[in-house]
Amino acid sequence: MLKKCEVCGLILDSELIQDRCPKCQADASRFRTLSREETEKITRSHLTNSLLTELAAAAEHQVRLAEKGIADQLDPGCIQTFELALRQAVLLRQMIRAEIAIHIGKEKW
Ligand SMILES: [Zn+2]
Repeated sequence: MLKKCEVCGLILDSELIQDRCPKCQADASRFRTLSREETEKITRSHLTNSLLTELAAAAEHQVRLAEKGIADQLDPGCIQTFELALRQAVLLRQMIRAEIAIHIGKEKW
């Protein structure tokens, strides 16, 4: 059974809650039991949220590689390729951030 701290938003399995919220130290009575629908929404979105987070890290890595390649300036073809990689990675990263923000806003996190 999942419970949510109404003070800080931490969601935990009820077995992990002792006398205080481990994040904000609020009394355990401040945890509210999530409904079945809320629980399903959260557990259903775990895989996608994990994939999005991993993809965002990959996009960050691509940004760093592209910036190094642009800075190296070996030849126009390479610079063009790295600039394309940079634009695509930045776009992807921003789309992932927006999607995660939507998930958080819809309690799918
Ligand atoms: Zn808390």
